[in-house]
Amino acid sequence: ESAIAIEKGMAYYTPARDPYSPERLTLVTELRHALEHNELALWYQPKRCLKSNEIVGVEALIRWPGRQPAVHADQLIALAEQSGLIRPLTRWVMEQALAARNVLLEAGLDLTVSINISPNNLRERDFPLFVQRLMTSHHQHRGRLILEVTETSMMQDPANSMRTLRSLDYAGIPLAIDDFGSGYSSLSYIKQLPACEVKIDRSLVTDLLTHTDDRIIVKTTIDMCHNLGYQVVAEGVEDEATTELLREMGCDMIQGYVLAKPQPLADLIAQLRPGDRDLPVLRQ
Ligand code: C2E
Ligand code: MG
Ligand code: MG
Ligand code: MG
Repeated sequence: ESAIAIEKGMAYYTPARDPYSPERLTLVTELRHALEHNELALWYQPKRCLKSNEIVGVEALIRWPGRQPAVHADQLIALAEQSGLIRPLTRWVMEQALAARNVLLEAGLDLTVSINISPNNLRERDFPLFVQRLMTSHHQHRGRLILEVTETSMMQDPANSMRTLRSLDYAGIPLAIDDFGSGYSSLSYIKQLPACEVKIDRSLVTDLLTHTDDRIIVKTTIDMCHNLGYQVVAEGVEDEATTELLREMGCDMIQGYVLAKPQPLADLIAQLRPGDRDLPVLRQ
């Protein structure tokens, strides 16, 4: 996607696509300010195990509250990646997520916390060291903070990404492959990845009830992942019928609006009261 598109011999300029447009540069300045002044937030979405029916974890998703017009997570991350802010942003996210895990623990909820990692982070030579240091200073969290990476992000720089992932794995950090089936999957990479969890992309889950081909793909993916030793999470599950279908297919966990939309931590805790975690989760 280039800022300048040629159509019928005419050149069209789209400022939003231009990394050096004044609008873009203003937004970067604003984002840097927001990051430095703690104005970004993480919202949390629960993940449920289909065997025990318990909520087993939450995923942290970035938000920019109060920003008008709103800047969505995908856009915010793209901006951070282009401007070099992704390094401090990911570090902020990780520290917030560990703090959130403490808050959950204090509320009697021993849940895993998943955070999303950018391709750029995988190219940072000191990233594994940073994560290890953070883990050492939060000892009780080892194995409970999951890093999500997309298969597409791997493909941009496979050798360096793989080196980073191996170091993280060696340090005992659980990894999840995010948005599986949405990009250029390479089965030869998938089998090499030191991951514990594969998250099937929402685009394959949305029409599961009506599209036979999606059903075949999802069932085959679940079986393949199990044979490779991965746990499988279905993303973007919005109704009970899809949940039941996924359960029959042997899917391990689900995430999606059928459980809850992403929300501030305090709201999530208010919904996930200890003691009735096995009840149909949430009062919406
Ligand atoms: P993701 O990691 O695949 O996160 C799932 C996205 O699907 C979230 O969008 C979530 O709100 C949305 N979602 C969950 N359940 C449903 C559902 O049932 N139906 C529908 N229609 N949507 C659902 P969100 O929060 O806008 O995040 C988009 C993407 O931005 C994330 O995709 C992730 O790749 C990226 N992202 C978010 N936060 C961070 C972050 O802190 N760091 C990095 N590097 N990336 C992040
Ligand atoms: Mg994710
Ligand atoms: Mg995803
Ligand atoms: Mg996504």
